[in-house]
Amino acid sequence: MTEILLKNVFENLDEIKYSRQRCIRCNMCKFPPLARVEHKDHSIGCPSYEEFLFTANTGGGMVIMADSLNEGRSKISDEVKDIIFGCTLCGACDVSCKYGTDIEIFETQLLLRKKVFDEGKTYPNHKKILESIIDNNHPIITKVSKNNQALNVFSNNKADTLIWVGPNFSYEPRLAKWLDQIISLLKKAGKQFQILTNKEPYAGRAALEIGDQELFKNQAYKTVRAIDSSGAKEVVCLSAEDFSTLRSQIPKYKSINVPVKHITELYDELIKSKKIKLKRVPSLLNVAWHDPCYLGRLGGQFKHWQGVIKKSNGLPIYEPARPINYGTGGVFEPPRNILNKLLVEELKEFSRRNEYTFNAGETGQTVAIMPEFVYATAHRRLQEAEDLGIQTIVTECPLAYLSLQKAAKDFVDIKIISLTQVISQAIEDK
Ligand code: SF4
Ligand code: SF4
Repeated sequence: MTEILLKNVFENLDEIKYSRQRCIRCNMCKFPPLARVEHKDHSIGCPSYEEFLFTANTGGGMVIMADSLNEGRSKISDEVKDIIFGCTLCGACDVSCKYGTDIEIFETQLLLRKKVFDEGKTYPNHKKILESIIDNNHPIITKVSKNNQALNVFSNNKADTLIWVGPNFSYEPRLAKWLDQIISLLKKAGKQFQILTNKEPYAGRAALEIGDQELFKNQAYKTVRAIDSSGAKEVVCLSAEDFSTLRSQIPKYKSINVPVKHITELYDELIKSKKIKLKRVPSLLNVAWHDPCYLGRLGGQFKHWQGVIKKSNGLPIYEPARPINYGTGGVFEPPRNILNKLLVEELKEFSRRNEYTFNAGETGQTVAIMPEFVYATAHRRLQEAEDLGIQTIVTECPLAYLSLQKAAKDFVDIKIISLTQVISQAIEDK
């Protein structure tokens, strides 16, 4: 019997059929694994299931839908499109399913979006985002500022560390002060770094999530070329979205030859090496870290694989062993290490955390087409915080921060702050 060579980089739904065929319709992708559920009130992991309450809007539903579309049993109607994009692409279903299987739900969801794009059914606001990537080198279709213009003065072109600023910190007016604080912290720590400013290409996440795979590949190649030409020995991403893209998506098409880190990891290193000295901050009480999806479960390092499925004692096994992304390869400990050094009390934890964190609506380009769903998702995260007595939510993903900020007006006792701001408050002057 001829064995079919399988792989883990996919161009169409047919190539990933082997993975989808393993779905046993158990519905567990709606929840964190039951062994990890801490309270009945926050026991759903899937934001779209919480919102729309249909199995179609879950990872398992998308797997079934993908087979139906792939085999020509259904077509992409407006309703089907709204289900495919009425999902924040947060990855919770993917890692929940992998607690007991090895099904690639996230990859299936990306290919469903590609199918919508290839059939010319992209939403008008998503088309604007794609046009902006091509015309402006960023995906922001709201008002922009130029936060990154002044950064050239700090850049040392020979520095080993390349700071990847990304479009949100570069152009989103509400993040200008946060960017200033990051740069100020790095300067105080004596950290030499380079920044590409206008030469930094957009890494392409929005194109990937909207389904324009060719545009994404194009941005991926530009990103790798820019990193290579910088001569840097490491890249430090300020945004969680870029961190995820550089670690888990771009390497599918082009390897990045230097380590990719997130700014929280650099802060942790600078604190451990005493370049940044922290004092405790008594005013920070009832604090919890919000694990951003892009930084955590969507931030694992991609590994290429090609192989076959063989039978051993009647059971199918992959040869060679197939790398499975369980969502544990991202950044979870560094921000917690830092917060534990500067709080006067124990760090609180959300019930849904680490690789089973609950999304704040920031992922998947959902906000451009379904802002009410994004608002409701962030609201649910804040409700979880309120129920657990959390009064300060710290995060370091600008998109999660903005999403939570917007929904926080109904929660007067909860504030959302960045880790950068917390460190800036706690830094000991030299
Ligand atoms: S996708 Fe996974 S968790 Fe969801 S129904 Fe299928 S096997 Fe179960
Ligand atoms: S990616 Fe997130 S929102 Fe989408 S179906 Fe999976 S868990 Fe639900």
